Amino acid sequence: MAKRIQFSATGGPDVLEYVDFTPADPGDQEIQVENRAIGINYIDTYVRSGLYAPATLPSGLGTEAAGVVTKVGRGVSHLKAGDRVVYAQSGLGAYSEVHNVPADKAAPLPQGISFELAAASFLKGLTVYYLLRQTHEVQPGEVFLFHAAAGGVGLIACQWAKALGAKLIGTVSSDEKAERAKQAGAWAVINSQREDIAARVAELTQGEKVGVVFDSVGKETWLDSLNSLKRRGLMVSFGNASGPVTGVDLGILNQKGSLFVTRPSLNGYVTNYQELLSASQELFAMLASGAIHVEVPESQKFPLSEAKRAHELLQSRRTQGSSLLIPGH
Ligand code: NDP
Repeated sequence: MAKRIQFSATGGPDVLEYVDFTPADPGDQEIQVENRAIGINYIDTYVRSGLYAPATLPSGLGTEAAGVVTKVGRGVSHLKAGDRVVYAQSGLGAYSEVHNVPADKAAPLPQGISFELAAASFLKGLTVYYLLRQTHEVQPGEVFLFHAAAGGVGLIACQWAKALGAKLIGTVSSDEKAERAKQAGAWAVINSQREDIAARVAELTQGEKVGVVFDSVGKETWLDSLNSLKRRGLMVSFGNASGPVTGVDLGILNQKGSLFVTRPSLNGYVTNYQELLSASQELFAMLASGAIHVEVPESQKFPLSEAKRAHELLQSRRTQGSSLLIPGH
């Protein structure tokens, strides 16, 4: 028997239950991982709430963790029992002591990277990698806007932007978060609770505005983001923390200056094992060099049994950086 989080109906954090289950053996091309640290991602709240509805109920939750391979299924040759791995995009069920994962979603974990660091940085770091290096290749000296800059993805983006020599303008909702984003390397910070985002972007860029906006907040910042873009700029809408953007009249892109919009996801950029390995190597190199430092405060490490409390805190906007679930407690 093992423990996991599951939910039988979509809804608020209350639907999360901590239950016993009997892990099945890994199927063909799968590995079984004993999780040591589990990454909490905002996307998990979309699945739990039904915004991204799970295929069946009851369902497991979570797609990211780091741990040790305990069994391998048929056809797996590149990993073996005892290997340390980190995985993302695993299919729902990572909020668990044990999870069966497609072997091509798991990367071998370099010795210098702890389970906690891996689970706190893998999915979020791969996301920053594809956003800043592939969706739009950010250039040295380039000024751009990145929302939720003190969040899990956001703090990694601040550091990656600095390492590239680019100037990230980050939005945050409190002075403490502003300080944290600045420490992480944001070039400038806008407090979205008391400043007009587009007006501040114009001011910071002497009226030029920016060529690209990375927006994970969604509904609440859609117009601010478009208003922050210069002519023919690119709006990268990659999340829905405040709700999804719906009902858009494409004419607005013309009115705001012949803008471009993309709605990317990690699944569209890391599509096979080779792409997973090459993106992970970029991330692991940034972690190993110290260019990116990810530290999870004790107040954001939760026993697996307390996933409900972890979701409440994440959705309250009071977290900074990444949060983790730790199995076995
Ligand atoms: P975060 O730690 O960034 O938490 C979300 C943050 O969004 C909050 O801390 C808050 O920061 C901000 N926010 C703004 N408005 C709201 C609101 N109304 N309710 C709640 N939060 C709000 O989460 P993650 O690092 O896990 O993920 C960041 C974003 O990136 C998410 O939207 C996620 O869906 C997206 N994502 C997308 C991926 C993709 O490939 N498309 C992959 C991974 C993540 P503040 O209070 O400072 O405004």
